[in-house]
Amino acid sequence: MLDKNKNDLKILITEKQLQDKLKELAEKIENVFDKNEDIYVICVLKGSVMFCADLVKHIHNNVQMEFIRISSYGNETKSTNNLQAIDLTLPNLNGKNVLIVEDIIDTGLTARFLTDLFKIKHEPKKVLFVSLLNKKCARKIEIEPDLYGFEIDDKFVVGFGLDYKGYFRNLPYIAYFPN
Ligand code: 5GP
Repeated sequence: MLDKNKNDLKILITEKQLQDKLKELAEKIENVFDKNEDIYVICVLKGSVMFCADLVKHIHNNVQMEFIRISSYGNETKSTNNLQAIDLTLPNLNGKNVLIVEDIIDTGLTARFLTDLFKIKHEPKKVLFVSLLNKKCARKIEIEPDLYGFEIDDKFVVGFGLDYKGYFRNLPYIAYFPN
């Protein structure tokens, strides 16, 4: 049985705020890549599923989508420092424009892992790293995304793809459980 009740959630970022931000981010992304160039969008599952799906609708370049899966929290609400690369299968991205789409940067370990992965395994033309949320105050290593939507406090948040024990990903807003 789930030990949290959806009715106790407090909304941090509304659906409208999220949707407005996506348009803003998509415009910035379009300004980085040449209008006529294709973009390989790498969606980092599972947390980025909603963000990525909604973001790409506002990008007018030709887009191809790839999905990789990494887990760092398990069922906890604190990062385990223990990254599990579940599926990193990608096509050859040499010479391609790549947009890495993350849900949230917390300690920074996942972002570092992904950045290194692209440096070591691929030689893309350009890589842009976008994260919906940025918990700057929770960083354990120095790393910043190229673009992000919202800076948030060191709170465990759910909704819009982000889960607690696998639940709440379907909420159209970002919320947290107050103590
Ligand atoms: P990092 O490696 O930066 O510590 O953590 C990145 C991953 O941890 C994110 O992609 C996300 O899956 C998970 N994560 C970090 N903070 C939160 C949070 O507040 N809520 C949820 N649901 N997941 C989080």
